[in-house]
Amino acid sequence: MKTVAVYSDADRDAPYVRLADESYGLGPSAAAESYLNIPAILKALKQSRADAVHPGYGFLSENPHFSRAVTSAGVLFIGPGEGAMRLLGDKISARRLAESVGVPVVPGARKPLSSLKAAILAARAAGYPVLVKAAGGGGGKGMRVVRSEAELGSALAGARADALLAFGDGRLFLEKYIQDPKHVEVQVIADSAGNAIHLGERECSVQRRHQKIIEESPSTVVSAGLRGRITEAALKLIRKSRYTNAGTVEFILDREGRFYFLEVNTRLQVEHPVTEMRVGLDIVWEQIRVAEGLPLSVGQKDVEFRGHAIEARVYAEDPENGFFPTTGTIVGFKAPTGLGIREDRGFEGGTEITTHYDPMLSKVIAWGNSREEARKRLMRVLENYEIFGVKTNIPLCLWVLNHAEFRSGKYGTSFLEEELRPDCLKAPADVRAGAAVAAVLREQILRGNKSNGLAGSIDSGWRSKILEYMI
Ligand code: ADP
Ligand code: ADP
Ligand code: MG
Repeated sequence: MKTVAVYSDADRDAPYVRLADESYGLGPSAAAESYLNIPAILKALKQSRADAVHPGYGFLSENPHFSRAVTSAGVLFIGPGEGAMRLLGDKISARRLAESVGVPVVPGARKPLSSLKAAILAARAAGYPVLVKAAGGGGGKGMRVVRSEAELGSALAGARADALLAFGDGRLFLEKYIQDPKHVEVQVIADSAGNAIHLGERECSVQRRHQKIIEESPSTVVSAGLRGRITEAALKLIRKSRYTNAGTVEFILDREGRFYFLEVNTRLQVEHPVTEMRVGLDIVWEQIRVAEGLPLSVGQKDVEFRGHAIEARVYAEDPENGFFPTTGTIVGFKAPTGLGIREDRGFEGGTEITTHYDPMLSKVIAWGNSREEARKRLMRVLENYEIFGVKTNIPLCLWVLNHAEFRSGKYGTSFLEEELRPDCLKAPADVRAGAAVAAVLREQILRGNKSNGLAGSIDSGWRSKILEYMI
């Protein structure tokens, strides 16, 4: 299959552009003018005569206008139909559908909040604390925890402003805020002949600001009985909405083992490799088959679950400085590798990291026969993962993977917020001093400064080692 990539000015030299057989520029770096610009994408579609579009994740991947625009141009959209996307992509209508098929939802409002008064009544009925959410939300944006009636007004205003900015849709609803739940989601995929299967669950409770950082499968707390109920609930929703293609049905689990429907992500998810590592299926390939009208390559009984997989999202952000996104040019890196390791990486040497888009650099996934084996493998490769040029959240990922609460599997979504202290991630003084010396040496060697300074006293063997290590 030949591939066509589209890119913005900022991504002109991105590795994926070179990997594609053909590529087309969409325009300026700002997402609104490139990756969210439907006419520009349709133009590239026409020029390239591509016969299918994979929308990836983020950007237009859950946008029904885009799905329709692609289909109207006579091109296959690799994702669900516009109707199912519209129904499930809206959190309010998805909640209603879940209730209609007997899938439990978090207690809360059934319709968009029209006024402060309506919000006050809905919050009283649900009981504080409550969570104000955007109907069109995603990526943890447009969400506010409200602990008392006095906070409700400003939370509504803040959430509405966030939601308008991020999704162009200011509709809000609210539901009971469940204390320290677990986030458990079910990967599903359905073909146009009506076969719908699940590929097990993923647990994604390690979150910062409602955004996932570490994901694993299977969940440490889902028993066989609960797995049966939660996967059946997910498939019920998929069948009822006549959903086709891959999707994820998200739930939260409370401390009493009750589960509640949260939302459906009507696309491939960032963390899909966790599932692929366990079931040995290529979800994207299945997506393409299904979009072409072919049946799924496997039935439910053919899906075998093996071992355990854990993913760490590597972000260009500085955990020692309020998780501020970091920018710069990646001058070198030493990639993770080894048995049971997969890396989906979006950069190479020379890539410039900007603040135009999400700061995700890479995803590192480890598979093991047991959870402990997967965890140790992931820790080993992250400890050795060197990225030079921008700071990353790797120290945070390692801190989580090594934490007693993560190891016990008991962690919930409040884990990071409760346990992470500013000094948790500071490297020991000797490591910092060593890094500073290495940086100075590298500068001197690169400048050919051999006669004076520290570098002059290093023999050539060490000099090449330092260069190899640092570049
Ligand atoms: P998931 O539930 O799989 O984490 P998200 O809803 O967080 O998915 O979104 C998928 C990815 O796309 C995330 O990395 C998110 O930050 C990114 N993303 C979503 N919308 C945009 C956008 N408008 N611009 C850039 N990145 C986006
Ligand atoms: P998004 O579309 O931004 O992914 P979700 O509804 O999936 O929004 O929620 C994102 C995260 O926010 C969840 O994984 C969970 O950690 C938290 N969350 C959502 N709803 C609730 C709730 N009712 N109680 C407690 N936490 C919640
Ligand atoms: Mg979600």
